[in-house]
Amino acid sequence: MKVHNAEIIISAVSPKQYPETELPEIALAGRSNVGKSSFINTLINRKNLARTSGKPGKTQTLNFYLIEDALHFVDVPGYGYAKVSKTERAKWGEMIETYMTTREQLKAVVSLVDLRHAPTQEDIQMYEFLKYYEIPVIIVATKKDKIPRGKWNKHESIIKKALNFDKSDDFILFSSQTKEGKEEAWQAIEKYLP
Ligand code: GDP
Repeated sequence: MKVHNAEIIISAVSPKQYPETELPEIALAGRSNVGKSSFINTLINRKNLARTSGKPGKTQTLNFYLIEDALHFVDVPGYGYAKVSKTERAKWGEMIETYMTTREQLKAVVSLVDLRHAPTQEDIQMYEFLKYYEIPVIIVATKKDKIPRGKWNKHESIIKKALNFDKSDDFILFSSQTKEGKEEAWQAIEKYLP
């Protein structure tokens, strides 16, 4: 998709704040600092529309972006931020679970992991959660440019093994620096659009 128009529509915490449209939604999830904002900005050709999420003190909201009047990206607050309290973490979990298990417009989740590292426990839990609820998932492994070409395969294998990756899902190596994986990511997303 060639994106010319993208704007933030609403930051929601509860279902009554979700936008009342039938547009398909693609949610984006990942631990803080994985490169989620950079991924969103790359896909929509913007420098700084999506802001780094999950910093302490920042409100934990679902941010809905309208893309080309065709779909919504739903930016899920980053998980795994060490300084977040137990209560906040529980609220986060409830908000995500409610959204992902009840929202009919949700077509797929882009789950971001860092290509450099083995998936965290939370990365694995997110993947298991999505598989359990049969929510289509696209795995995007970020920061590809930080790993030498000769090691891409090895890192991909480590991630797939830890996730118990289902071969029918998409797995995309991505870099917001070089933009590698951008077209592939759009193609994977477009499979879920009408
Ligand atoms: P978020 O917290 O998941 O939204 O992560 P950000 O998109 O804010 O990225 C966190 C940090 O990683 C920032 O310093 C980015 O510049 C950096 N970063 C994100 N994606 C890439 C990438 O593909 N390559 C490199 N080298 N750095 C990246």
